[in-house]
Amino acid sequence: MRLKVCGMKYQENIEQVATLQPDYLGFIFYENSARNFDSKNIPKVNKSIKKTGVFVDASIDFVIEKINNHNLQAVQLHGKESPENCNDLKHRHAELDSAPYPLEIIKVFSIKDEFDFSVLKPYEKSADYFLFDTKGKLPGGNGYTFNWNVLNNYPSTKPYFLSGGIGINEIEDIKRFAKNKASKYCYALDVNSKFEIEPGLKNISILKEFKKNLSEVLENKKEKAMNYNVNEKGYYGEFGGAFIPEMLYPNVEELRQNYLKVMDEPEFKKEFDKLLKDYVGRPSPLYFAKRLSEKYNTKIYLKREDLNHTGAHKINNTIGQILMAQRLGKTRIIAETGAGQHGVATATVCALMGLECIVYMGEIDIARQAPNVARMKMLGAKVVPALSGSRTLKDATNEAIRDWINNPVNTHYIIGSAIGPHPYPDMVTRFQSVISEEIKWQLKEQEGRENPDYVVACIGGGSNAAGTYYHYLHEPDVGIVAVEAAGLGIDSGESAATSVLGKEGIIHGCKTLLMQTTDGQITEPYSISAGLDYPGVGPMHAHLSKTGRAEFMSITDSDAMEAGLELSKLEGIIPAIETSHALAIFKHKTFKPDDVVVMSLSGRGDKDLQNYIEYFKI
Ligand SMILES: *Cc1c(COP(=O)(O)O)cnc(C)c1O
Repeated sequence: MRLKVCGMKYQENIEQVATLQPDYLGFIFYENSARNFDSKNIPKVNKSIKKTGVFVDASIDFVIEKINNHNLQAVQLHGKESPENCNDLKHRHAELDSAPYPLEIIKVFSIKDEFDFSVLKPYEKSADYFLFDTKGKLPGGNGYTFNWNVLNNYPSTKPYFLSGGIGINEIEDIKRFAKNKASKYCYALDVNSKFEIEPGLKNISILKEFKKNLSEVLENKKEKAMNYNVNEKGYYGEFGGAFIPEMLYPNVEELRQNYLKVMDEPEFKKEFDKLLKDYVGRPSPLYFAKRLSEKYNTKIYLKREDLNHTGAHKINNTIGQILMAQRLGKTRIIAETGAGQHGVATATVCALMGLECIVYMGEIDIARQAPNVARMKMLGAKVVPALSGSRTLKDATNEAIRDWINNPVNTHYIIGSAIGPHPYPDMVTRFQSVISEEIKWQLKEQEGRENPDYVVACIGGGSNAAGTYYHYLHEPDVGIVAVEAAGLGIDSGESAATSVLGKEGIIHGCKTLLMQTTDGQITEPYSISAGLDYPGVGPMHAHLSKTGRAEFMSITDSDAMEAGLELSKLEGIIPAIETSHALAIFKHKTFKPDDVVVMSLSGRGDKDLQNYIEYFKI
């Protein structure tokens, strides 16, 4: 639950209360109240604290004036304001030039021993929150609690504030209430008179004690305790693990026992960082896309993975894995590839280290992706066609696994995304996590804060996304958006939207969400983008989807292509078609003008030129 401290009046006292970091501070604009706020200004408080104006049947002009003067982010309506009044207020607010946030409207209802919840219904659309206060002589600030059991019958799912006479003596009651089903939609505790030395003057030490005693309830421990990283057994929630043929066990087990140890060695880190800097060209810029931001009326930053050597994020992982292979004494590298991007990234690092490189690729893909096949050959790799099945990525993967079983001692298998048996998803994620590590300091430099409001990435298997999210997974104020390929449309049968269409199953050695028929056959995925054309997602993303930590969106071929063209024209950057899927979300999701949205620009569009040319008949 959050905390709102209401009835603030005195400048210095406001500053002191703000240091306790409540989520809301309330200012009463009602002349008949002993706590009426009549100072000219509210002192500057931390941006994360929402300033809330409290009104009793005030005119819209009066409310708007106060919002304007004091930069209020929320209003709390204590009188007989109608649902229409709430709507009017919202509309008037939206027209303000100075309105960076949608206004939060909190509508108050007073309860004693019973309450007719049907009165809430007309407000469901117009109010953002309800607030339940004690029915008494005054509109608020009466100083005693109502019977919280009444809330057992709360019929709504709208989050509400619990108010009325809450003080230090209620701590145990609150703890009990928090475990009770009535508290399911309790969003915040609202405190006021019980913490006062005199009306409007809050006692800091008692507030502090209250907050400390309720830290478990207030800090949303449940939210924080959710772990989005892999556990010791290789699981993200119920997804992950290592489902492998017995013959592979020694290889995978060797890697599992060593990967964290190796990655922790100072010498390893030094070499990895040096190659990322001097060979890959990191840090990749975090670029504020001005014209794109103007177009969508929000602040968009692009993390320029397209500027890496070989044109995408994939090289971060292959550099890490080739160093790992060397530490483990391996001399031969194998990989699978679909569109050839991962094959090229692997052939590149093998050339760099002088290691033998064999890339398995479906026969059909070899024909479709001639330029990448040529690149791999130039780099000294042997490209072996997979001739079985549909002769695409899935079959190439099977061939690679077969090779690994036959060459367990000298060979390392470089998997190209955050997929495969444990420890691959975690290892790949850690190598890619350099992306969010850089975003943190780069955003701090440019915006003065490390955390954006959203991080966004496209998902094939999920490696650029995992790297972009990694350092934000446990920051609840950072929204995570994952973008999948809808192909010709989710219901078209030609799609790769795994989070929507997928069911739990096992693919490439891990338990995750994958697209399959009712009898468990893996469905051929489809997307115009070769890199998103994968029937599963990495287990981390399956977990993020299942827990609701990430918002999953699916984007069709045509929306993606348009977004790719748009970025080219607006910013002079031709993105990979995979990346274009992420860019297309701005047409479907509205962000606030003040939101900072960081998007992984996973790759450049050179490889897709032919595709763009044919699509747009350029
Ligand atoms: C391969 C690729 C992807 C998809 O792979 P993930 O592992 O999901 O990141 C996305 N963008 C580009 C440019 C790619 O080459």
